[in-house]
This record gives sequence, C-alpha cells and structure tokens, in this order.
Amino acid sequence: MINLRSFAKTLDHKPVAVFGIGRSNMAVIRSLHQAGVAVVAGDDDPTNIAEAVAAGAKDGLLESDFTAYAFLVLAPGVPLHFPKPHPVVEKARRAGLEIICDVEFLYRLGHGRQTIAITGTNGKSTTTALVGHILSRCNVAVEVGGNIGHAVLDLDMPPHDGAFVIEMSSYQIDLCPTFTPDIAVHLNLTPDHLDRHGSLEGYYQAKKNLFRGQGAAIIGIDDGYSLRMSGDIKEAGERDVYPIAVGRVAEGGVYTLQGALYDAMFADTVKAGDLDIATLPGLHNQQNAAAAYAAARMTGIPPDKIMRAMRSFPGLPHRQFIVAESRGVKYVNDSKATNAAAAEKALACYEDIFWIVGGRAKEGGLSGLEPYMHRLKGAFAIGEAMNDFATWLEAQKVNVSRCGTLEEAVRQADQAARANGKGVVLLSPACASFDQFRSFEHRGEEFTRLVKALQEVKDG
Ligand code: ADP
Repeated sequence: MINLRSFAKTLDHKPVAVFGIGRSNMAVIRSLHQAGVAVVAGDDDPTNIAEAVAAGAKDGLLESDFTAYAFLVLAPGVPLHFPKPHPVVEKARRAGLEIICDVEFLYRLGHGRQTIAITGTNGKSTTTALVGHILSRCNVAVEVGGNIGHAVLDLDMPPHDGAFVIEMSSYQIDLCPTFTPDIAVHLNLTPDHLDRHGSLEGYYQAKKNLFRGQGAAIIGIDDGYSLRMSGDIKEAGERDVYPIAVGRVAEGGVYTLQGALYDAMFADTVKAGDLDIATLPGLHNQQNAAAAYAAARMTGIPPDKIMRAMRSFPGLPHRQFIVAESRGVKYVNDSKATNAAAAEKALACYEDIFWIVGGRAKEGGLSGLEPYMHRLKGAFAIGEAMNDFATWLEAQKVNVSRCGTLEEAVRQADQAARANGKGVVLLSPACASFDQFRSFEHRGEEFTRLVKALQEVKDG
C-alpha cells in the first residue's frame, strides 16, 4: 500500500470526499485512513457504504458541506460529463471542489519514480502487462496496476530507480487534471464508450489529455484519430513523439514489417527481432508489442534485452491465452472476447478452429465474422445465444453443435479436434458471460479447469 503520511500533512487537516466505492476507491480509503486523514464516503448503493465504513470512512457524503473537503476522489465509473453528470459531480462543481481519481492522487505525492501510462481503445492490458514483464525481466523494480490488477494506491512504492506502469481508461484520464507520465502510450482509437464522452471527438479529447506536459509520447498511427493525435502532440511541441505502425514504416518510431520489429527511434533503423511469439499472436499484438518495445526502449533498455524478455511473456489470462497443447491440438482461452470485433482478432490467428461461441449476445451478434468462417472445422454453441448463433452459423455452412453448456462444448470440441489430429479449440465467445457465469474471468477459469481435467484423463 502507498504510504500517504507525508502527503497528509499538506492537506491542512481537511477531510477527503470519496464517491463510488469500488476497487480503486477502497484503496484510497484504506491508505488515507492509515495516514490519519478523515474520509467521508458516498455511493448510490447503500450496501457499498458499509464496506467503506469498515475501512475507516464516515458515511453521509451527499448531505455534507462540500466546501470543507480537500478534494473529491471519484470512481472512474461515475459519469463526469455524459450522459449527464452525476449529482455528486454537480454538487462538487458548485462548491468549487476539485474532482480527481486515484492515479492523479498518486502523481501528486511527488514520488519521482519513472511512470509509464498506457491507454487506447484496445490492447491496454496486454501492453501494460508486457511492459511490466519486460522491465522486471531487465531488473527494473516495477509496479503494475491501475485499470489492470491492483488499484494504484494498493501498489508498493518501488525504489527510486524503479517504475510504475499504469493502465489507464479514458475515464481515469478525465479525472487526472495534472498527471504527467514520463512516458505516455496511446495504442489506437475506435468508437467505444461514446455514451460517456458524448461523441468520438469527446473520446479523442479525453485520450489526448494523457499527453500534457513534457516527456515521451508513443502513439499508434494505424487509425485516423490516432494519426491525428500524433500530429497534434507533435505540433504542441512538448513531447517527443514516437509513432507505432503495423505493416508499414513509421519514421522515427517502431514498426513491424512481415512479422519483424524495426526500431527507428534513435539514429539508425535496426531490426530488433522477429515477433513469432506464441503468446502474442495476431497483427493486433504486433501493435501492442511494438508499443511495449518503444516504452521499454525509452527507459534505456537495449533492443536485444527487450526482445529476449518479450519472448518469455506468459500472455494474459483470458486473452488468447494458451491453456494447454497436446497431440497437435492447442486449447486457447479468449474469454475476454465479449463481442464480435474481439472474437474476430482470435479467428484471424488460427486455422482448423473448433470454436466455442455464445453467451449473452451483443447487438449485431456475429455479423462481420463471415470472412473467417472458412477457418472453422466446427462450432460449438452455448448460452442464451445458442439457437440464434447456430442458425446464423448454419447459414454460413458451418458445422454446428448446439451444446448448451461450456462443459459439453469443451467435451465435444476436444473430441472433434483430436479426431482431426490438429487444430485449435478456441473459446472466443463473442458474447457477455452473465447468462451462465459471474464474469468473463469466471468463464475463462471454467474453460481452463475443464481443459485441464480432460488433459489429465488423456494423460492418465
Ligand atoms: P483492453 O485492456 O484495452 O481491453 P486487452 O489487452 O485486454 O485490451 O485485449 C482485449 C482484446 O482486444 C483482445 O482479446 C483482442 O481481441 C483485442 N485487442 C488487443 N490488442 C489490440 C490492438 N492493439 N488492436 C485491436 N484489438 C486489440
């Protein structure tokens, strides 16, 4: 846990307001309480308050005088602007109270540790975990958190020559009015979360705020908005911009061509190495790998060491994670693919796919995935979407089995793949998990358990 004692002295005995009791604000409450700072907490759900009170906060935020607080720490999930500001936000604004999140809080401690912040519509977690992995393999004491894993105030303070690697959503960036990471990374920008930012333009402006102040800017330039961002940041003149591109040259940056990674960040362009890394499959991961490489390079690690470290990346659970490999068959857990666009990334990576698909369908269902159907050896439909998806797949001439449950789907897909002698049993559901599971993590864990159990039977 981050120690806030010296920071507490700067607060002039003012209490801190905290609204939205989730993972990040529970860490805020715990660390403020430990530092002897009074915290007053609020949440729309009264059952959450009990947890905050147990951690040392006082109840009654919404009834209190907002001019008395040092600032309001808002959970990133609470609407700041759109669809409309939450009443707590309006009250804070009327009182002239500053609204921040835990990442801004950490920054204001003035800890001086090198900080790498990573954002983008897709690939944030993979890139954050990969940067953390590379740095720790290269003996940098690194703490990884934010939108992934631990909330930032739950991390430990690394030694002075260590680093923070922080995954940031656009909501968190909105709540960081002065946070200035040494190395800021933006991967890509496609329509998402528009309800919260009002428009794609609003979403763009939110992401852009990560690049205020001086330091390095590592920016993917493979979509229109991100290309524009690299131009805008260059023009602002405060940060050195290093562009990232997949499949074409990015002058002065890092790019991939035919599966190899090239580094043109400094002086001469060098071929850093090949990206044939099983735990980073697909073109989308080339973007993540190139951005992670650039971030690690900015910390001073030489190319060969970065590439060696990257090769031992274990992958992130639930994102095309290889659970097992046996007799020519790979078992891949891509439970995080909760919509068709995410499943598309996985379908593009393999041939001879035995696809486990379904759950609670998203708008649009499987449409857009038609070009990948020839890669399937069979589909195994589950969950609420089973019948609709099976009908859609049959219209695409795919061999479908209506399995109902994940257990049955794993059993049948495994049997079919083994009979085929090669292939990939892929859980990439293109659906939310809530019809049959607590979360996508729960669904992925169940898949892993079922696959491992089958392996034991086979090996035993
Ligand atoms: P995030 O943390 O931004 O949600 P993840 O690293 O967890 O991203 O990846 C989630 C899914 O997004 C992956 O399973 C993959 O389908 C897709 N994805 C990952 N990286 C990229 C990328 N660079 N571009 C497009 N899609 C990506």
